[in-house]
Amino acid sequence: MDRQQEFVLRTVEERDIRFIRLWFTDVLGVLKSVAVAPAELESAFSEGIGFDGSSIQGYTRVFESDMIAKPDPTTFQILPWRGETHGTARMFCDILTPDGEPSLADTRNVLKRTLAKASDKGFTFYTHPEVEFYLFEALRTDGPLVPVDQAGYFDHVARGSAHDFRRAAITMLESMGISVEFSHHEAGPGQNEIDLRYADALTTADNLMTFRTVVKEVALEQGVFASFMPKPLADQPGSGMHSHLSLFEGDRNAFHEPGAQFELSKTARHFMAGLLHHAAEITAVTNQYVNSYKRLWGGQEAPSFVCWGHNNRSALVRVPMYKPGKGVSSRVEFRAVDSAANPYLAYAVLLAAGLAGIENEYELPDPTEDVVWDLTPSERKALGIRPLPQSLSEAIEIMESSELVAETLGEHVFDYFLKNKKREWDDYRAQVTPFELKRFLPVL
Ligand code: GLU
Ligand code: MG
Ligand code: MG
Repeated sequence: MDRQQEFVLRTVEERDIRFIRLWFTDVLGVLKSVAVAPAELESAFSEGIGFDGSSIQGYTRVFESDMIAKPDPTTFQILPWRGETHGTARMFCDILTPDGEPSLADTRNVLKRTLAKASDKGFTFYTHPEVEFYLFEALRTDGPLVPVDQAGYFDHVARGSAHDFRRAAITMLESMGISVEFSHHEAGPGQNEIDLRYADALTTADNLMTFRTVVKEVALEQGVFASFMPKPLADQPGSGMHSHLSLFEGDRNAFHEPGAQFELSKTARHFMAGLLHHAAEITAVTNQYVNSYKRLWGGQEAPSFVCWGHNNRSALVRVPMYKPGKGVSSRVEFRAVDSAANPYLAYAVLLAAGLAGIENEYELPDPTEDVVWDLTPSERKALGIRPLPQSLSEAIEIMESSELVAETLGEHVFDYFLKNKKREWDDYRAQVTPFELKRFLPVL
């Protein structure tokens, strides 16, 4: 037993923890949980806990139905919303096959594998997500959704049905060791944004799974409903999860070079070129639902075209304002990811695209200073600005022939993901929508 494991056992005893939830994520990014009693912990650490994977999305191959969840003691946290006495804690797990090999369906492992490739080149990958989401009065799927307020960007909403929502959510996150950097009301009514402090990508992805749970829990406590759906309201902004990305070599930010354009190093430029080069291939992963494309093509500051710019919010990749001399904060912002992506897979494909750019020394095109949405199609063509995929169908077709995505996800996740998404598209396109009835029935 190592020191971390001993620490967990001691804390469980000292803090009167009765249940330890073992958390893992299915291929689509849905959190799964199995609770064990403290007496089971020692064997959970040494052998893992067996479960039937056959009814979990992505773990469905019959010969993989027996799976093992092995908790990562460094992720131990007490769940504050479960109360002080007879408490509940959680740990994230690695998923193994009965032979003790990493499961091919475990997306946490997909990210770990990609991080190991970066680490072979001497890099640590850091991410910092800006998570947007909506608060509604209640969950409704059969009538108009009612946002909890009518406020807008940066508004200070002192009273509303979600009273002090961000303060409550942030207090809970910080008590679980997740640092929050900024938070504010976003542009849509009832829309909020909370930005997590940068951390290595595995920690960020774990933190995002916790974040979604905390936001849902705090919303329930306040009698409202939180949603990370990419575009819940047709005429309001969607919910993105812009992600700031950087590579470090030890303590040094490998994206920083004093005196260079925007103080960006060659490594950063190649990384960005990789993001742009592979952007269309990875979109099905960063924007995985039929609904995601209503955000991407719905205006309201969501990116639709593949280009980069300095402080250009219409660009897919943005170099945020930098403070000269503060090299440690050099980073690039990738704006296509939405709040419903599986964070492990999204960060794995973003990193793989960036590393491909470094490895192949892709040339970064010139930055775009224009608002790309205002250009005509022929102006964009002349500038070499391509569109992102316009639908889930187009995105999966492009992903299907991507070596980069196949290699990064591994054959099992790649095949499962495509199959699942094709089914989603087929179900979607078979619908006769209210739009069609309203537009066509009276006249046809
Ligand atoms: N809500 C916008 C999006 O879907 C982003 C707004 C912003 O710049 O923060 O990407
Ligand atoms: Mg925002
Ligand atoms: Mg942003």
